[in-house]
Amino acid sequence: MSASDVRDVIIIGSGPAGLTAAVYTARANLSPLIIEGEPSSMSDQPGGQLMLTTEVENFPGFPEGIMGPELMMNMRAQAIRFGAEVLTEKVTKVDFSARPFGVWIGDPDASEPTFRGQSIIVSTGARSLMLGLENEYRLIGHGVSTCATCDGFFFRGHHIAVVGGGDSAVEEATFLTKFADTVTIIHRRDELRASKIMQDRALNNPKIKFLWNSTVTKVNGDTSLSGIDVQHLPSGETTTHPFTGLFVAIGHKPNTDLFAGQLDMLPSGYLITAPGSTRTNVDGVFACGDVQDSIYRQAITAAGSGCMAAIDAERWLEATLH
Ligand code: NAP
Repeated sequence: MSASDVRDVIIIGSGPAGLTAAVYTARANLSPLIIEGEPSSMSDQPGGQLMLTTEVENFPGFPEGIMGPELMMNMRAQAIRFGAEVLTEKVTKVDFSARPFGVWIGDPDASEPTFRGQSIIVSTGARSLMLGLENEYRLIGHGVSTCATCDGFFFRGHHIAVVGGGDSAVEEATFLTKFADTVTIIHRRDELRASKIMQDRALNNPKIKFLWNSTVTKVNGDTSLSGIDVQHLPSGETTTHPFTGLFVAIGHKPNTDLFAGQLDMLPSGYLITAPGSTRTNVDGVFACGDVQDSIYRQAITAAGSGCMAAIDAERWLEATLH
């Protein structure tokens, strides 16, 4: 590695968006460098959120389903097969003020960037906010979930809980009533934050129950979720509930701290891309996947936008450098 190491395309992040961008740019002979991140905790690993998932049944092409980590390993191997280079490091700083753009690994105070890229694809994803309780991460995919669309199907006939009081929690709870026998929304206050129309839908749904002014204090289970402890805040009383599903829906945080002040973002931190494209406010920097999508947040939509970013980058390089 040296400061003169200038790449056509550097992809930051290795979930379905980044790896799909890598497959496409590699097949376009652009020899992409993917900086995939490095494992720092259960919730923060190369491969993104699918590394925390068990079975994925809604990614087209796998009629019997596929395990999340296996799907990501396959995408990674596919990108490498076409010439993508994968670096298991974390990016510590970027400089998008001049081209070729600077990307630092390791010491962010180093005077020279580790790599320079003619174009950059940002695919650093988002993470679900979690309650921070013991067992919570360990039981993801074994009763604990952060995605009703992905996992609802596995809870046919169960009694399950959804934590949160915003639109996500209420929407997920309503969706989950298609499968579960009962869905209990556990909210820390006595009124929902969700929009009125979503609230009305949930309040009128006979399968949805509420535990108001309550927080989850313990997640129980060895190999799968066996129940949760819930504290009623005004009385301080704690009760154990034998739920076999727990959906945590208390919000998401896009991984965009690295780009503050350089890429335009919404107050919520999601990167802003031009409608119908992956272009950011910086010419030559593209964004794809959950880092710029607060709505769909699916592996397949992330992969689709990764393909768009690769094509956008390829055309931009062609028009700009040649
Ligand atoms: P949100 O609006 O930030 O709501 C998060 C909810 O989780 C709040 O009710 C909050 O409680 C609760 N919460 C936060 N931290 C918690 C903790 N540590 N323990 C227990 N509860 C906690 O997030 P969101 O529901 O994911 O929605 C994000 C954005 O997407 C919103 O703008 C929303 O309108 C939008 N959205 C729209 C739709 C739709 O229109 N179909 C669907 C989903 C999301 P408090 O209320 O007490 O703060």
